[in-house]
Amino acid sequence: MNMLKRISALILSFITLISLISCGKEKEPEPEEYYSATFFAMDTEITVKLARRTGETDEDENALFHDEAYLSSVIKECANLVSEYESALSRTKDDSVISEINKETDYFFDLDPEVLALIKESNEISELTAGAFDVTVGTVTELWNVTSDGADVPSDESIEEAVSHVGYEKIETDGATLRKTDRKTKIDLGAIGKGYALGKMIDHLRASDVDYGIVSFGGNVGAFGKKPTTGTFKVAITNALDTSKVIGYVFVDDEFVSVSADYERNFVKDGVVYGHIFDPETGRPAKSDVISVAVLSENSAYADALSTALFVLGTDGIKDLYKALAGTDVAFEAVAQLEDGSVYLTEGLSGDGGFEEYKEPETTAES
Ligand code: ADP
Ligand code: MG
Repeated sequence: MNMLKRISALILSFITLISLISCGKEKEPEPEEYYSATFFAMDTEITVKLARRTGETDEDENALFHDEAYLSSVIKECANLVSEYESALSRTKDDSVISEINKETDYFFDLDPEVLALIKESNEISELTAGAFDVTVGTVTELWNVTSDGADVPSDESIEEAVSHVGYEKIETDGATLRKTDRKTKIDLGAIGKGYALGKMIDHLRASDVDYGIVSFGGNVGAFGKKPTTGTFKVAITNALDTSKVIGYVFVDDEFVSVSADYERNFVKDGVVYGHIFDPETGRPAKSDVISVAVLSENSAYADALSTALFVLGTDGIKDLYKALAGTDVAFEAVAQLEDGSVYLTEGLSGDGGFEEYKEPETTAES
């Protein structure tokens, strides 16, 4: 029943879009067309843009790209995949694996191996980030409930009580068993679940007969394959100080971008913005010198988790973690916007072809 609902809720707006991402400098617009659909899952709008050549040669423009019947079926498979992950990973759905684990008990047996592996991986990221990313923030996120109507600042006592149940070391896994050393600890995969599901979706697309595509999944973007015109995909990074603008663009080549910032999910009380990313140590919305950070990585779940961690840690933490992970299979690059509006780039993005800063169009004064 639930599944049927979800499928019917799937809004497939089968529009062929002239790509907005292609470079604007060419004289002739490229025949860069995608087959595109948007649906809603995991609390987020998901847009999938795919291209599949049906022609024999690249020169045959009319035969370029989409085979609609095939691509629409692939997108439906993606939507089903995401909806399965949502059913398992959601903190708010009563019958999810995470809701089961969030019950006030200490031992949980025969858990879904994939969910357990994700929790284990999350705890490894917690170790790497000195606890800045910590999926045991569940009691804190539940207390603040920042996206609810009438969200308010909780009392100091209730924040202290919530924080006392936070700590990734309170979760132990052994085979298919999970143990909570604190029965009241709650898991919230909000900072990694979407990235994880996006990674699985891109795996599925790579294994399908699709030439290239780009998926936007809330603050996460994943691209695969090579665009015939530019090779890479150009992804805009929103300006956190004025979300109608961008600070610039990154170029994505078979990798993922995840943005963590406060400008979308928050509430305002007495002129103070309370965001949805928490410092697990204090149980309060994280405040560092970073107001928005985009992480690029070949690993989608890591990109998601690290963007949250880097938002908490600020530029010093970004520098340390960058060094620590350089050369590993979870190395990353990052673009951070700082509170004074300036942009900090990790080394790999500082040179040519890394980050393209947005420049206001020059206005020519007329005499
Ligand atoms: P979004 O979900 O908007 O893409 P993030 O990926 O940064 O943003 O994840 C933020 C979500 O993760 C929060 O809504 C909350 O559910 C959870 N969360 C908040 N702070 C932390 C943290 N320090 N570590 C892990 N998860 C967190
Ligand atoms: Mg994240």
